[in-house]
Amino acid sequence: MMRDCESFDRQGLDEPALVELAKRLAPAASRGLVIHLCGDLGAGKTTFARALLQALGVGERVKSPTYSLIESYSLNANRGHHLDLYRLADPEEVEWLGLPDLADSDALILIEWPERGGKRIPPADLRIELNHAAAQRNLRANGLSRRGVDALERWSDS
Ligand code: ADP
Ligand code: MG
Repeated sequence: MMRDCESFDRQGLDEPALVELAKRLAPAASRGLVIHLCGDLGAGKTTFARALLQALGVGERVKSPTYSLIESYSLNANRGHHLDLYRLADPEEVEWLGLPDLADSDALILIEWPERGGKRIPPADLRIELNHAAAQRNLRANGLSRRGVDALERWSDS
């Protein structure tokens, strides 16, 4: 049975603190994880994804997939796919992105605006929610699978 998951909360993060926190998730994400990144425009989702991808070995620029919807990377140990579904007109469009073909079980999949993908996107192991807190940000994470809970525990111990 899955252990009860305490949520992982961090408040009043400035940008360097958010970047640092994202980097510390790298060891637990290097074997593959599906992460849903929730929160309003400007909440820091891309900032978080970029820091995590860079910590996992992406040397090139990590640009926001706002228009391309998906950007894929070779990481040290696996592949990374970064999606932003904000501009998706219809959840059916997710099928055109070819995600099932790209996503092996080792892949790291980061999805901004997962709500817009409906049921067509892979379910989250980890759900991360970012919120504005004046000029800073609050972060809450929940593990939603065995793998996600393990990652969350490793992350919160780091
Ligand atoms: P999102 O992808 O959620 O729309 P971004 O990651 O693009 O948001 O960030 C939006 C803006 O907020 C950027 O200018 C970024 O530099 C800034 N930002 C990101 N994280 C923080 C933070 N923790 N504190 C203050 N500003 C931040
Ligand atoms: Mg973004």
